[in-house]
Amino acid sequence: MFFSPAIQLLDTLGPATLIGLAAVLGLLVGSFLNVVIYRLPKMMEADWQVQAAELRGEPVAERPPFNLMTPRSRCPHCGTPIAAWQNIPVISWLMLRGRCGHCGASIPVRYPLVEALTGLLAALAIAAFGPTAAGAGALLLSFALIALTFIDLDTQLLPDDITLPLLWLGLAFNLSGTFVPITEAVVGAMLGYGILWTIFWIFKLVTGKEGMGYGDFKLLAALGAWFGWKQIPSIILLASAVGATVGILLIVSRQHRREAPIPFGPYLAGAGLLALYFGKPLGAFFGIA
Ligand SMILES: [Zn+2]
Repeated sequence: MFFSPAIQLLDTLGPATLIGLAAVLGLLVGSFLNVVIYRLPKMMEADWQVQAAELRGEPVAERPPFNLMTPRSRCPHCGTPIAAWQNIPVISWLMLRGRCGHCGASIPVRYPLVEALTGLLAALAIAAFGPTAAGAGALLLSFALIALTFIDLDTQLLPDDITLPLLWLGLAFNLSGTFVPITEAVVGAMLGYGILWTIFWIFKLVTGKEGMGYGDFKLLAALGAWFGWKQIPSIILLASAVGATVGILLIVSRQHRREAPIPFGPYLAGAGLLALYFGKPLGAFFGIA
């Protein structure tokens, strides 16, 4: 096959080298995820404004291109483009001591933390699964869940542009049973969406409020496609338990107003990662699988 020399090369490398390479790949992807986390919600908002203007029959103002590639990253404070050497994951932030090299405005510590987290999860994926289809799947899933977590924390949105491809990708990996048999994956996607949709409507009919968003249904559908219907109960229970605990702590410590919505996506994403590494024991613990 086309990439068999690459596979043979990977086979000659020791596990430690592979894990190291995965960590470096993760750091670089993490740097890109920072761009996705910052720009994708702004791109969605711009799209909505264009659509709304078209519906109202108003002329759509011409805008400079804004997507994941253009324009180049700039300091949000002074607008100076970020040089290549200032774009090295984690290291640049440390060398600049967390400040813009031009104007000295502080760069949030979250940027290097997202890069480090991505590097760590990439290393973990290859340490657990090796250079296999499951390893590639674990990498892609980890990257998507990191982006979704931080976008949801910032904007309370889980973009379709990430959740829907993640669902198809889970089904694609399980066509050959990489994580679960394909029938379990299809039922998992249906059940994941259906359960949260049902809870949403019961909650809305009883309280008149919306407790979560459709993005949450799509994310759980995606996790069902990756890990099968048997993992859905433990994912929901874990996400709810951790989400409720954090929510109560935030309300008690007055960091959070009781009425303000608490995003559910980060907890679903965390539970999804637990399902990836501890699916069997978790399923056994919750009495299924
Ligand atoms: Zn600056």
